[in-house]
Amino acid sequence: MTYPTQPTASHFIGGKYVEDTAGTPIDVIYPATGEVIGRVHSATPAIIDQALTAARAAQAAWAAMTGTERGRILRRAADIMRERNHDLSVLETFDTGKPYQETSVVDATSGADALEYFGGMAATLTGQHIQLGEDWVYTRREALGVCLGIGAWNYPTQIASWKGAPALACGNTMVFKPSETTPLCALKVAEILFEAGAPAGVYNVVQGLGDVGAALVSDPRVDKVSLTGSVPTGRKVYAAAAAGIKHVTMELGGKSPLIIFDDADLENAVSGAILGNFYSSGQVCSNGTRVFVQKGIKDAFLARLSERLADALIGDPQDPATSFGPMVSARQMEIVQGYIAKGQDEGARLVYGGDRVARGGFYLQPTVFADVTDDMTIAREEIFGPVMAVLDFEDEAEVMPRANDTEFGLAAGVFTRDLTRAHRVAAGFEAGTCYINTYNDAPVEAPFGGSKQSGVGRENASAAIAHYSQLKSVYVRMGDLEAPF
Ligand code: NDP
Repeated sequence: MTYPTQPTASHFIGGKYVEDTAGTPIDVIYPATGEVIGRVHSATPAIIDQALTAARAAQAAWAAMTGTERGRILRRAADIMRERNHDLSVLETFDTGKPYQETSVVDATSGADALEYFGGMAATLTGQHIQLGEDWVYTRREALGVCLGIGAWNYPTQIASWKGAPALACGNTMVFKPSETTPLCALKVAEILFEAGAPAGVYNVVQGLGDVGAALVSDPRVDKVSLTGSVPTGRKVYAAAAAGIKHVTMELGGKSPLIIFDDADLENAVSGAILGNFYSSGQVCSNGTRVFVQKGIKDAFLARLSERLADALIGDPQDPATSFGPMVSARQMEIVQGYIAKGQDEGARLVYGGDRVARGGFYLQPTVFADVTDDMTIAREEIFGPVMAVLDFEDEAEVMPRANDTEFGLAAGVFTRDLTRAHRVAAGFEAGTCYINTYNDAPVEAPFGGSKQSGVGRENASAAIAHYSQLKSVYVRMGDLEAPF
């Protein structure tokens, strides 16, 4: 199968595509059909060395450019990404299986937003002047050096851009390792940044299984590690980074609560629950998969939800009319099927879906369980698939501790028309990213990230700058210096 903008080799290093077929082959599988549509090779030690050498060699000159110059390159890359949105979206759909209806509005477009935003911010990054009588201190905001980005498979273009844009704006260079499941899109980000004028070595991509990620994390040439992935991987990567006292950003998993009160606008609440459970076939870290519905609205909510789910158009994800696509891989589909079986075994009531879709590829129906209790596996573990758990509740005092009773703290949402209750509930959530009468927005202007085990640090907004730069304090004495002897 051919598709537009197909990358020409496995890795992008020092401004060009690089191949080393000695690396373990990784088949690229189109989730909508199960067909092999390409092959890349995992990075060999020689490729890892080449990438880190290129990133190190490019860093000082990149950091020495003015912020205006660096920003102009990032903004040019944003423009190119937008011009090529169609082809990049088709590629993203081949890589992930997500419907074109989604990829054409949230992947390259969100990557372009990040490049534009941090491109605009690059020229504004400054230190501070601190007057101490006649003496003074100034701070310099400096790059960290070489940043390593490691991506999950659900948003390959977005993750490569969300990590790359702030890192490069601050004067760092980057080596990015995509998930082995979706190796294609990050190569395009590297290609576009180079075309926009980023010097060779500033943004590099190497493919690989987890072992390549592990080798990169512990390499002394890496100064910072930014991971998007699961909590178990986060633990390993954080520990390996700690051995080298490296900076980290951890964007990890979640099991977020979405609370719907009786007084909520029903249609909006159903929309929020759909966006928070079934977008990208449920493969979104911040999904509100524990849907607490107050008893007075429960029957109406479930009835309307089932009606709306029946309108989902499941089909060829390249068809712009399709609104629900396959899971990313056979493995992920099997994991989710295991959770659906567990939900039934543990006594949850299946009210919608639950089966595979009768077509090739890795399709599962949107699935809803009602009468879920807090102790059930489907209410405790991250499923990362289209499975919504609906739990009953009586009142706010009862639901809040239940909503927070999880090791995760990525996101949380509330639907209500009661203004003060909405803000009280948002303040009470133990989560980094909260929503009132909406769900799963992630604009570049707002900080995004988790609390508790869902992560460390923030992506997006000016908050990301603190995680991709460090401050140096310079003390200046204007007069004579006294010493004890
Ligand atoms: P994984 O944690 O399995 O993998 C994430 C990345 O880490 C992959 O590139 C993987 O490589 C790599 N990796 C695995 N082991 C190691 C290691 N020991 N050292 C270094 N790198 C390693 O996550 P998935 O790809 O399965 O993605 C799903 C998870 O990501 C979910 O838990 C989800 O919640 C989370 N996620 C979080 C987001 C957030 O912003 N908070 C956003 C999106 C997803 P390989 O794939 O080759 O094994």
